[in-house]
Amino acid sequence: MPMSDSTYDGGCHCGAVGFRYTTVISPEDWSVRACQCRFCRMHDALSTSDPGGNLQIFAPEPTALRRYRFALKTADFLICTRCGIYIGAVIDATAARFGIINTHALNETPPGIAAVGAISYDNEDASGRINRREECWTPVSAVPW
Ligand SMILES: [Zn+2]
Repeated sequence: MPMSDSTYDGGCHCGAVGFRYTTVISPEDWSVRACQCRFCRMHDALSTSDPGGNLQIFAPEPTALRRYRFALKTADFLICTRCGIYIGAVIDATAARFGIINTHALNETPPGIAAVGAISYDNEDASGRINRREECWTPVSAVPW
């Protein structure tokens, strides 16, 4: 049976910023990563992505979208300034944009979503981090900036 795209909508608590994630990967096969950096631990963030999928970022209220950079400053972590929710991150790579979503920001948790794996990227340098994101993150087709 051919696999078909499924679409997953998400966003912040107040609705000022959001995303649409499209993937052929079934939720039970998602790579759900608990990054162990301090930012992700403080948000209890869980990340997923699909290099064969698509991600669109929306901001019905553009002034509510904060793009926060820290540490190696290679990606924008997207936070709603009104309600404080972290929805995902986007990197501007050489040829394209790639992103991840925070699965806790999905409007509905997909039934059967894969178990979480803890992971640390502390040993990466900036180029290694960019290369990994280009390979593993989801191509981004729309951003509001
Ligand atoms: Zn919000």
